[in-house]
Amino acid sequence: LRDLVPTLIGVDVGGTKCLGVVLSADHEVQATARRPTATSFDDLSDTVAAVVEELEGGAAEQSPIGVGLPGLVDRDGRLHAAPHLDDPGGHEPIAAAAALSDRLNRRVLLDNDATCATLAEWQLGAGRGLNNFVLVTLGTGIGGGVVSDGAVMRGEHGFVGEFGHMLVDPDGPACSCGNRGCWETFASGRALGDLARAAAERGGLDGVLAAVGGDLDRVGGEQLEDAARRGDAGAAAVLDEFAHWIGVGLAALTNAFDPAAFVLGGGLAGTADVLAGPLERWLREFLYSSRRRPVPEVRFAALGPMAGAMGAALLTAPGRRS
Ligand SMILES: [Zn+2]
Repeated sequence: LRDLVPTLIGVDVGGTKCLGVVLSADHEVQATARRPTATSFDDLSDTVAAVVEELEGGAAEQSPIGVGLPGLVDRDGRLHAAPHLDDPGGHEPIAAAAALSDRLNRRVLLDNDATCATLAEWQLGAGRGLNNFVLVTLGTGIGGGVVSDGAVMRGEHGFVGEFGHMLVDPDGPACSCGNRGCWETFASGRALGDLARAAAERGGLDGVLAAVGGDLDRVGGEQLEDAARRGDAGAAAVLDEFAHWIGVGLAALTNAFDPAAFVLGGGLAGTADVLAGPLERWLREFLYSSRRRPVPEVRFAALGPMAGAMGAALLTAPGRRS
């Protein structure tokens, strides 16, 4: 006999891997499956199909599938830009939800991966119970999502949350998007590595350099975090500079959305203990009228790398939007 309340299946297409999860009726992760991510959309459909097949154990299922994709995913399930896929060259969006639906022979609900993660952290993670919060994923780049007045914001086209490309310095470093000085050129995981290397070249990271045999190319975020935890002042200074740049963006987002809290996710959420203090200080420093208002709480994501796939599964929950 089938359970009366079906399980939910979601697939998160990341930059390096495709992660699928099965959520039980009470939203516990029951099973996971992983495949390397493809670089063309056609191959990606096969990859998603293989993940779903593994999750379902070959049973002839027809339950809907939720899929989170990086890039600009519109409200009709069309993909306008995808940073990890080879550019097919045309200017027409890819009808991704329809193509996946054909490939999987069932209904497919598609959304941006960070929007999926926002939904999961809201319903099951660090944002539970909040009516207003902003998820910021600090990974190689920066993405995120907004819960505003008790609903996940999507915007006119579904493109809410591309925080990494907010301009903070039009004369700043070149960004992958073609502009200069986007927030993610200062405050992403990649930017932290750049800050570290610049500091090492100035001679401010001798302790960190000693730990990597003097090889500047091996100084990255992880080495800095380790050194800061050991009490290395040079490493702490670089992390403070990094927190300063994160604070610039969080202050701007506070002015825009008035959140009760930020939920910080992505690879850098693991550095909570060394980042939280400086981050809260810089946010307070940059925030409009910070002495006369509540300053948003800074939390760290609870669901880790599962958030995107869990949120994709939640897209298919009975009663959610179509
Ligand atoms: Zn950019």
